[in-house]
Amino acid sequence: MSFKVGLDDGHGVNTAGKRTVALKEDIMFNGKLRKKGTIIHENEFNKVIMRKVEPHLKRCGVRYIELAPTDSDTPLSTRANVANKNKCDLVVSIHANALAGTKWQTGAYGLVVIKTKGCQSKTNKLADIMYKHLKTVDFPSNGETKYGVRVDTEISGFTLAILRQTKMPAVLVELGFMDNWNDVKVMCTDKFQNECAEAIAKAVCEYANIKYIEEKKEENKPSTSDSNVVYRAIAGSYSNKSNADKIVKELKEKGYNAFVAIYDK
Ligand SMILES: [Zn+2]
Repeated sequence: MSFKVGLDDGHGVNTAGKRTVALKEDIMFNGKLRKKGTIIHENEFNKVIMRKVEPHLKRCGVRYIELAPTDSDTPLSTRANVANKNKCDLVVSIHANALAGTKWQTGAYGLVVIKTKGCQSKTNKLADIMYKHLKTVDFPSNGETKYGVRVDTEISGFTLAILRQTKMPAVLVELGFMDNWNDVKVMCTDKFQNECAEAIAKAVCEYANIKYIEEKKEENKPSTSDSNVVYRAIAGSYSNKSNADKIVKELKEKGYNAFVAIYDK
């Protein structure tokens, strides 16, 4: 049986309070323009990171399940139950932080890994490995150890169900502060999101003793939005016209505007 990870994208999309400050300028987030004055929900951010972690795990042969695949605010204890029922080998809960006027985080910055009070020793190991990788992410003030690995009771005053009720090692990562505009600007970039996702996947692999397979980066890849070129999807080349007609018929049945083009050999 291969290693299985439970991925949690923390909160529902409309969970109260969990969101950025009103954006101070128009900003691109996940390929879409978000207008100045609007907000981005924490869950939207968490989900983008989670979905970016998944292909890395897949490539490395690590199985995963999403503990709360819908957009609704699934209680943390329900998420923990899903992980337990599915016998995950570890759980990563992905979040973004907010100061929300609380005292403990005054001057907080960087990326935080949270474990539950009195956690099993395997969780200590997982948390340390997770932070080791997250520390390498290019982020303002990252690398400061002040908020590196923390215990949930120090952060929130109570233990967190997703960490306490999961039977397997579990950590929660806070990837920047949504109510800090300087953080938000970085958190919205693909570069930051990609680096976080890669760091999480690398940590999982290291913990599980699985070789991390680097992503193949295509060099000089043509831009996907170059207005001077068109991209044609080709379904096949045939020396017999009736075979080409058959494919076109199939594609047309599926709703594609397909046609046969003739090329000299
Ligand atoms: Zn959160």
